[in-house]
Amino acid sequence: MKVWKFGGTSVGAPERMHSIANLINDGEKKIVVLSAVSGTTNTLVEISKLSLKKEFEAAKGKVQELQNKYLPFVENLYSTAEGKSKGSSILEEHFSLLKNHIKEGFSEVEEKLFLAQGELISTKLFTSYLQEIKMKAALLPALDFMKIDEENEPILSFTETELGKIIKQHSDIELFITQGYICRNSKGEVDNLQRGGSDFTATLIGAALYADEVQIWTDIDGMHNNDPRVVRRTYPIAEVSFDEAAELAYFGAKILHPTCIRPTQERKIPVRLLNTMAPKEKGTVITQKGSGNAFTAVAAKDGITAIKIKSTRMLNAYGFLRRVFEVFEKFKTSVDMITTSEVAVSLSVDNSKHLDAILTELSTFAIVEVDHDQTIVCVVGNFTAEQPGMAIKVFAALKEIPVRMISYGGSENNISVLIDSKYKNEALNAVNEGVFFAENISV
Ligand code: ADP
Ligand code: ASP
Ligand code: MG
Repeated sequence: MKVWKFGGTSVGAPERMHSIANLINDGEKKIVVLSAVSGTTNTLVEISKLSLKKEFEAAKGKVQELQNKYLPFVENLYSTAEGKSKGSSILEEHFSLLKNHIKEGFSEVEEKLFLAQGELISTKLFTSYLQEIKMKAALLPALDFMKIDEENEPILSFTETELGKIIKQHSDIELFITQGYICRNSKGEVDNLQRGGSDFTATLIGAALYADEVQIWTDIDGMHNNDPRVVRRTYPIAEVSFDEAAELAYFGAKILHPTCIRPTQERKIPVRLLNTMAPKEKGTVITQKGSGNAFTAVAAKDGITAIKIKSTRMLNAYGFLRRVFEVFEKFKTSVDMITTSEVAVSLSVDNSKHLDAILTELSTFAIVEVDHDQTIVCVVGNFTAEQPGMAIKVFAALKEIPVRMISYGGSENNISVLIDSKYKNEALNAVNEGVFFAENISV
């Protein structure tokens, strides 16, 4: 069994759906995971925000705008009257649901239900299209086999048993279509795996079924050595290791959901990143083996808050770090970077939901300073302690950029620096030239 996932742009237009129908029609048994049509989830987020603020008329207006965008989509996706009519009733069903829920009492439960509509619509439209062109496929409702626990962690064993059962019931089917991103939570409500979560659905399904391979089809020819949205010269990397890919995804390489590598890594299932627009390109394969390069890639994570915590008792205050980390544990806030000195510890967090409470509690035993709008630049590669000269290449490249924190040695795969977000583009381009096109830099 193979698992193929197609992202928002890959299903973003009727012609794109036509070409992925061709791609998946290769005679091999597979589960196809789809995202919402590009832009849909963003609009559903906006609609939910307006509804939470009780701006119901504006929210309904946005629903109508979104529905209008889907009308030509359906018209061009299908070629038969029957297909078009099926497509229209799919739209009717989901857009009526949205309209009917925009009213007094709209809560976070409805918000999650709203966010799920994009994937529900795309998979239904696509499966009907496959039926129209006489391809034999079954639509599997992800809400029946994707579940998260109280900590919002996916329950792989649940997927394993439930999906296993469903597939057995359809032993004559070669192609299964399902929704990425959406799941149920521990209360049984509709929920999701966070933005970009369709990648995670694919790797969870791949792990649950011990698939031969998970393929993530997107709009670029694989994992690039740096963020192609802001860096001038980037190139695709043929191979990366699970560890390297996990670091890059966690530290901002948008091509992968931050935690999607874990399930496939645990079960040693290769993940291949491919381009729907250029399906013959090699793309990137993620396995245990890795790139073998000294420097593999660079990624950046924005929206970081840096917190400097100085002990009021100063030197030899053992137990200080424990107290600091207990506060973060209490508020379920994970820490990304840490640097320490004898008298202070600086750390960074990307989740500022409980920041005020954390700062209040830390202030009872320490002097606290906070910097917002920071960015972590994460350089991933193979940095064994025996290999000299790696860190200096990174820092030489950053010589013009004010650096707030440095983290090196935590893992053999990562050198991270924290900078003010206003220097991000400059820093990414400088590191790119310095470590991948090294002749351009003098140490
Ligand atoms: P999808 O909708 O298919 O999930 P995403 O937009 O989530 O696609 O991810 C693909 C995009 O990620 C690319 O178009 C690219 O702009 C961006 N991206 C950021 N960093 C990288 C990187 N290191 N390599 C490749 N793409 C990256
Ligand atoms: N549609 C969801 C999002 O836009 C999930 C995904 O595309 O992976 O975040
Ligand atoms: Mg994505």
